[in-house]
Amino acid sequence: MNPFDWRSRLGEKIRNIPDFPEPGIQFKDITPLVKDPTALRLAIHHLIHPFVNLSVTAVAGMEARGFIFGSLAAWELGVSFVPLRKPGKLPYDVQSVSYALEYGESTLEAHVDAVSLGDRVLLVDDLLATGGTAQASCELLETLGAQIVGLAFVIELEALKGRERLAGQNIHSLLPL
Ligand code: AMP
Repeated sequence: MNPFDWRSRLGEKIRNIPDFPEPGIQFKDITPLVKDPTALRLAIHHLIHPFVNLSVTAVAGMEARGFIFGSLAAWELGVSFVPLRKPGKLPYDVQSVSYALEYGESTLEAHVDAVSLGDRVLLVDDLLATGGTAQASCELLETLGAQIVGLAFVIELEALKGRERLAGQNIHSLLPL
């Protein structure tokens, strides 16, 4: 392998688990990536690279794997981290957004003071599938007054066309699978 081929280096650290959590799903397990400190640094470097000169003021991450990559991205950019959480977890006043999943519905919440009017937010998650979670997260942050500067994902499942659902957004993914 070419040592400068960072995509191959990162791709080797994504473990595919067939039929998890249910039959038919190919689960992309990022734990080998976060176990390897060099690969993790490489991932964070490339995740934030397109956004370093875009005056980002906060990074938002979706529970739970978005917290890992999002908080490291916020640390590297020197900006705030905003956790977007599953319902009932945040202790203060919250703004909620509900969205459709393949089966059923889900909700994300943020504290009402998580962002301020004019905040320029980079949204980070481990994986873009249908784009429903990312779309709901954008809506939640925009309701609170923030502007979405971009969205960054470690993995993108291109066949699920999440990008189309997020048309007009600046989307960056490291590993199109
Ligand atoms: P979606 O809303 O369909 O774009 O789904 C994205 C969210 O679901 C992300 O937070 C992912 O962590 C998770 N997710 C969806 N599909 C997978 C998959 N095949 N492997 C791992 N995580 C997934």
